[in-house]
Amino acid sequence: MSLFGIKEEQSIPPDGQMDLFGFVPKETPPEVKALSAECSANGLVHFKYSPLMKKSIRCKGGFLFGHPEVLLPAYMKAPEFAAARELAAEWAEHAVRRKTQKNKAIVKDLVNRFWQTVDQIFTDKGEAPLASKGRLPPIRPQGKYHNLVDVLAAINDTYFDGSLSCRITWSNRVGGLSFHTVRKDPVTGEDFHLISISRGYDAANCPLYAIAGVVYHECLHIVIPVEVRQGRRVVHGREFRQREKRYIYYDEWIKWHKEVLPRNIRALLHHREL
Ligand SMILES: [Zn+2]
Repeated sequence: MSLFGIKEEQSIPPDGQMDLFGFVPKETPPEVKALSAECSANGLVHFKYSPLMKKSIRCKGGFLFGHPEVLLPAYMKAPEFAAARELAAEWAEHAVRRKTQKNKAIVKDLVNRFWQTVDQIFTDKGEAPLASKGRLPPIRPQGKYHNLVDVLAAINDTYFDGSLSCRITWSNRVGGLSFHTVRKDPVTGEDFHLISISRGYDAANCPLYAIAGVVYHECLHIVIPVEVRQGRRVVHGREFRQREKRYIYYDEWIKWHKEVLPRNIRALLHHREL
């Protein structure tokens, strides 16, 4: 789904092949409409760029009818940083307000999400994350309601004979996605798998079977590597989808994932408690 709710057209891939069930593997990242590098999507927060800045952002209040102006590092002018710029705009709108306890917490959360998004953009481009060079993102498996270490251990024992070696954390990545990455331990220099689970699952309304479902899905990414078929990256191929369905609460998890998770993520984006 695109950011603006425009449905992408279902199309037959250029090689003209569809499989037996009409399933068209579609692994292109979600489309982000080209946003202006000059201002936020709502047109209220203006962006300026500095070639001298690398790992910091600044804002100035009262630029346009009380809305702030944000100074960003010059490399963030590139289109792929659009999502990060939107977060910076949201951050600035809060940062220029009165510093109440609640507002301070929101500002802190937005700053974290901003740098995590920037890191992810670098990672997606195949470059080392800038903000976390030489250090790891915080690994926090204990959530407000659920401990991911326990869930991972149960899934690992039940579905992988305890053979998986990976770490797990609650994610703050904007958009509420769960994902799997390979990271380098700055101390040992060794690569390890890191599973990050959407915070939308750390909720009072989230049953354990749903968390276990998404953890199982991310674990499968460790054992079923990405295939390249006719130049396309196939992340969720047929084998992946077949194995995914072996999860005992697959139907219940998918239902929760489709019906409840989007509501929880919307609440998080509006800084509401889950
Ligand atoms: Zn996946």
